[in-house]
Amino acid sequence: MPGPRVRFAPSPTGFFHVGSARSALFNWFVARQSPDGYFILRIEDTDADRNREEWVDGIVSAMQWLGLNLDQGPNRQSDNAPAHADAVARLLAGGYLYYCDCTGDDVQARKGDNKTPGYDGHCRNRGLSKSEKTGIRFKTPQSGSTIVHDLIRGDVEFQNTVIDDFIVAKSSGVVLYALANVTDDRNDEITHVIRGEEHLPNAPKQMMLWSALNEVTGDNVALPVYAHLPLLVNEQRKKLSKRKDPVATESYRDQGYLPDAFVNYLALLGWSPDGDEEIIPLERMIKEFRLEDVSHSPAFFDVKKLSHINGEYIRKLSPEQFIEISAPWVRPWDSAWQPTDREVPWTKEDFNTELFAKVAPLVQERIVLLGEIPAMVDFFFHDQPVMDDAAFNKAIKNDIVAQQMIKAAITRFADVTWEAATLHEEVAALGEGLGLVLRKAQAPIRCAVTGSLVGPPLFESLELLGRDNTIARLKKALELAT
Ligand code: GLU
Repeated sequence: MPGPRVRFAPSPTGFFHVGSARSALFNWFVARQSPDGYFILRIEDTDADRNREEWVDGIVSAMQWLGLNLDQGPNRQSDNAPAHADAVARLLAGGYLYYCDCTGDDVQARKGDNKTPGYDGHCRNRGLSKSEKTGIRFKTPQSGSTIVHDLIRGDVEFQNTVIDDFIVAKSSGVVLYALANVTDDRNDEITHVIRGEEHLPNAPKQMMLWSALNEVTGDNVALPVYAHLPLLVNEQRKKLSKRKDPVATESYRDQGYLPDAFVNYLALLGWSPDGDEEIIPLERMIKEFRLEDVSHSPAFFDVKKLSHINGEYIRKLSPEQFIEISAPWVRPWDSAWQPTDREVPWTKEDFNTELFAKVAPLVQERIVLLGEIPAMVDFFFHDQPVMDDAAFNKAIKNDIVAQQMIKAAITRFADVTWEAATLHEEVAALGEGLGLVLRKAQAPIRCAVTGSLVGPPLFESLELLGRDNTIARLKKALELAT
């Protein structure tokens, strides 16, 4: 028995959907858990009107990002056009196909009030030898049923009478999805077809094509095993919408999700190992993953849970790894890849690598996305912070006691030991003198120094920023407020 040969076969018609990323991952798991597993990336690019090269690049680079290495590909389905044409010729000669020149309107007019969906078989016995209009259809059996043995959903039975004579090739000669896909799966010797649930209704058609091809070629190629992965839904339990839900894998990369965390989360969309852990090492997922254990109920794509997992992965990095992995967001000039539409708020000259290395551990504890880093540490790399006006008005300008706090700090900070623990004690004591709890005493200082009311731990930040710089900022804020 040859090792599983699987393929991921996306059509490059848009961003790399998170559902596609999950299909790619589950295929990859199946290939990687066997010593002779084989994973092919096939770009199904025969629909020239809808395909764009940039979407192919997006798929390839996102798969690299996720670490889904290939044994073959990216192959182009369009390169297999001769094999597709050959399949059509053989099926035609074998009597499995027929030409049809009905337009949709023709079919509608014939049907009248009859609401049966699909084609009515009008041309099935007309013996046309070509069609300038519609193309070529498959003669679906008119009785019996086709059972898809699906590893996830069990046996799913389709009555052949409800499957209409579907089009396999357009009059232009372009072979459509169902047959192109089956022809390539046969040629690639695919053993497992693992794909989204939306393709389940295609499976009986493809099984019919498969056995017809076995007949006309004399090659008795075994049918692949099917596994249709559960739908991904949003919080309202509705199918993820391309327009309304954040479905582009590329955007998760841009926001600073870690590939390991993203893979971990994708794996949990329909599957989970024994036990209730959420953070699962990759090796263990590869070893334990079983298509039979994938659930057929819709899986909720929960960005909050994904973010939580991402935060956990960030926390697990060593400080050195964290500094390295944050490069695209903080020093893009040192990084081969940069996130789209994100400008770092400082220049290469203003950035200070040693200082960032000291600040990094403070930040690592507090973020869930790498993309949050710039806004948190921005104030270190400018003479004065970029002030958030709303924060300034609230915490300083409209608060007399806060201004007194800043004044007191300016005086006190001039000769205190410049070290986080002491600064902490001093601010607490000054606050107490003014009747302020620590949180209230800190707020104006944080705002004056960092320009914001949220950020890394304050006293450690002050220590790193230095006495002169801190005092200059406190003075400037006071000046602006009065
Ligand atoms: N090209 C199809 C898609 O992108 C793939 C279907 C399959 O995996 O068979 O949905």
